[in-house]
Amino acid sequence: MTDVHDILTKYWGYTSFKAMQEEIIASVLNGKDTVALLPTGGGKSLCFQVPALAMEGICIVVSPLVALMGDQVNALKERGIKALKLTGGINFNELNTLLDNALYGNYKFLYLSPERLQQEIVQNYIKQMRVNSIAVDEAHCISQWGNDFRPSYKNITILREIHPLAPIIALTATATPEVLEDTISELKMELPEIFKNSFVRENLSYQVFKEEDKLYKTELLLKTNTGAAIVYVRSRKSTVEISAQLNSLGISATFYHGGISAKEKAQKLHDWSQGIYSTMVATNAFGMGIDHPNVRFVIHLQIPDSLESYFQEAGRAGRDGQYASAVLLYNEYDKQQVKNQFVESLPTTSDLKKIYRKLHNYFQISYGEGEFTKHNFSFSEFCKTYSLNTLLTYNALNSLDRLAIIQLSQEFGRKSTLQFVISSEKVLDYFEKDTTASVIGKTILRIYGGIFEMPTTINLDLIVAKTGQTINTVIAVLKKMERDQVVIMTLQITDATLTFLVPREDDKTINVISRDVATINRKKTAQVNSVLHYIENTKTCRSVQLVSYFGETTAPKCGICSVCRGQNTNLIKSDIHKLAAQILALLEEDELTSRELTEKLTFAEADVLKVIRLLLKAEKIKINPRNQYYLN
Ligand code: ADP
Ligand code: MG
Repeated sequence: MTDVHDILTKYWGYTSFKAMQEEIIASVLNGKDTVALLPTGGGKSLCFQVPALAMEGICIVVSPLVALMGDQVNALKERGIKALKLTGGINFNELNTLLDNALYGNYKFLYLSPERLQQEIVQNYIKQMRVNSIAVDEAHCISQWGNDFRPSYKNITILREIHPLAPIIALTATATPEVLEDTISELKMELPEIFKNSFVRENLSYQVFKEEDKLYKTELLLKTNTGAAIVYVRSRKSTVEISAQLNSLGISATFYHGGISAKEKAQKLHDWSQGIYSTMVATNAFGMGIDHPNVRFVIHLQIPDSLESYFQEAGRAGRDGQYASAVLLYNEYDKQQVKNQFVESLPTTSDLKKIYRKLHNYFQISYGEGEFTKHNFSFSEFCKTYSLNTLLTYNALNSLDRLAIIQLSQEFGRKSTLQFVISSEKVLDYFEKDTTASVIGKTILRIYGGIFEMPTTINLDLIVAKTGQTINTVIAVLKKMERDQVVIMTLQITDATLTFLVPREDDKTINVISRDVATINRKKTAQVNSVLHYIENTKTCRSVQLVSYFGETTAPKCGICSVCRGQNTNLIKSDIHKLAAQILALLEEDELTSRELTEKLTFAEADVLKVIRLLLKAEKIKINPRNQYYLN
């Protein structure tokens, strides 16, 4: 056995371990089942990679995130370590070759998805391998209580049955007590050693503000920014809109969401990390693998749907250890919105029964049949046929997919988007030269307003119907316009498919999963409530609230969050008097909103608001329906 420090330096060039890494590695080397709970960026990968290198044989790594698997395998290869991965989209021959390599080629790491592990051929090969350890990355996925629960994760225990002596190491950054307990029992870990590093981030100031004008507040914050920033919003459309608005306010921003091409994603990530744009406006698709040191602000313009995701997203600020702010801006409408979207549209068992039955009617499948039949599926047409609520139906179909009743193809729920990227005059010039392009292009311009400003969802069927052209012509023309750099687009041209995984038995089928449905719904509701509770609790230190949610009950007050700061305001008494006098003097001249007051004063906005509140309370001033203050 080689010394673990030598391995660290030889392969990674690092001189010392991060907190807890050494203890975790020692535990695995002692053959113990081990749980590593470290925050994102805490260096979990090394916790199984170093011991695997110190032992003979191969480490099997089960990971749910295909994209991360590729990154990790590449990173290992670059360091001269033999690693391979089994993901989707490999045919049988390739699979055989890869597994042969893993068995006979002195490989140190075999990465695979939980779904791959279910294949018998994979299991048979693994049986013959000399497995030194089993790593389960993002292990919270195994728990019903984890954020990204996947049923197929449950069968990972097969590895334990095949290789009972290899220690299991489970790694996660999501460490609520329920998730932890559930993960350990689902993996059938035996008296595991549990290592947990504190989730406290001393340099991170958590701030929550109720704000009617969130964009204005964002502008104020970002104008003070000296490093990079991430602004999280919920929809793809908002990423485009908000980034345009920020640019018009003089803040250099770009946008990122799941619908842009891989090439564009890489380009945008690159430009942002290089500081070409200070601010990335993004959906939660912007996350995995982002390890940028000098993010000074992470601003949420909408309420996240769980504290797990909030903590991860907020935690991308201040990786360099310097002071950074994680700011959540919300208003009453947002609170209702998050409930509507995540709680009120959760499908109940009876919703699932109804939609499940409609699916069979739609595809004309009779009782007892349908198992393993695959169908082309248009979601919008399905909803239209039965006048179904789209959000509820969408969630219901996803639940049925998660619970292995049906299987939706990857195209499900994706949409084609298009944006014109040259001026309208140039577009018309372009159409002059090509009549087919003109017919199709002008129709698109007529149907979709705003298509010059942002990527817009387009409906190819509608364009076909309106132009009388074939779908192939429409696609060919769009592709030509893309090559000619007239438009940018993401085309979703393959139909989504839906496969029934069990025969039609109507209510019986759903009754079997009703307990799981209830658990998922209860969990989701609890998660959303935790976020709302976090927002509304203005008494307890924000950092204390967050880490105690993750089971850490002894953390000290941070002293820098909006709660701690609010309690010992920076304003000294003479400042309050001075500011009050200035506000009263301004209001003597005119009725003004708080924003107008802030603009005219040299004090920070929070201080102005605080003194306004004091003046209101003392009935020195009043507010009119236009939110302007006036002297009483
Ligand atoms: P996690 O999976 O916990 O989010 P990673 O394993 O991806 O974290 O590691 C995050 C970053 O920290 C990586 O860039 C990794 O190379 C780096 N890192 C890990 N261990 C050390 C160490 N001992 N010294 C310096 N950097 C480290
Ligand atoms: Mg990781």
